[in-house]
Amino acid sequence: MNDILKVTGLCRNFIQGDETIEVLRGVDLAVAPGEIVALLGPSGSGKSTLLQAVGLLEGGFQGSIMIGDEEAANLPSDGRTRLRRDALGFVYQFHHLLPDFSAAENVILPQMIRDVEPKAARARAESLLASLGLGHRLTHRPSQLSGGEQQRVAVARALANRPALVLADEPTGNLDEHTADIVFGEFLRLVREEGSAALVATHNERLAKKMDRVLRLHEGVLQ
Ligand code: ADP
Ligand code: MG
Repeated sequence: MNDILKVTGLCRNFIQGDETIEVLRGVDLAVAPGEIVALLGPSGSGKSTLLQAVGLLEGGFQGSIMIGDEEAANLPSDGRTRLRRDALGFVYQFHHLLPDFSAAENVILPQMIRDVEPKAARARAESLLASLGLGHRLTHRPSQLSGGEQQRVAVARALANRPALVLADEPTGNLDEHTADIVFGEFLRLVREEGSAALVATHNERLAKKMDRVLRLHEGVLQ
């Protein structure tokens, strides 16, 4: 089967004053359907920059980003928005949940954007949240949840539309070590159960080893 993600020759510079910082210097990587790949590197190595490029959130890079059989680099802005909505799910270090909506509503909303029928969207949200041990927290707002619970809701939201590829940027980086281990384990289990592929940035060797394959980002290229 074809790769869900194929990145070739990805370069990204940032210009600050009269200095050019070369963050990505020709990144090549491929992720197969259903594969969970760790993107490992110390802070400042460019993990977030790489995920932002693959997440089609930012322009300003050179190279090719194939998502499924579409060249994302050539797409106009509405095409990138469609591809992001239809193929990708995101988990960030900070949950970015909508504070005025309940846990269930935060997982329902992305489905409404894809015109999923409301009853089906609610059932899907409740089933994902229950699978993450949050069946009794459906009506809670984010501020009424612990950090670990908030990240679980963010995981459920990312998977709500059955994305072919989940992009996660230090998804448990904001949690204490014990909670991070538990939530990370649940995240991997659910991604596997759902059959999504994932590209997961982390600076944590131990978490990286739990994934199918580890890519190391060093001096702007993958090793
Ligand atoms: P990581 O996620 O691995 O910690 P980042 O991708 O956030 O690394 O950052 C990589 C490098 O790019 C850092 O040196 C950072 O300062 C620089 N950088 C990131 N975003 C910007 C930006 N918008 N403007 C200038 N420099 C940036
Ligand atoms: Mg980062």
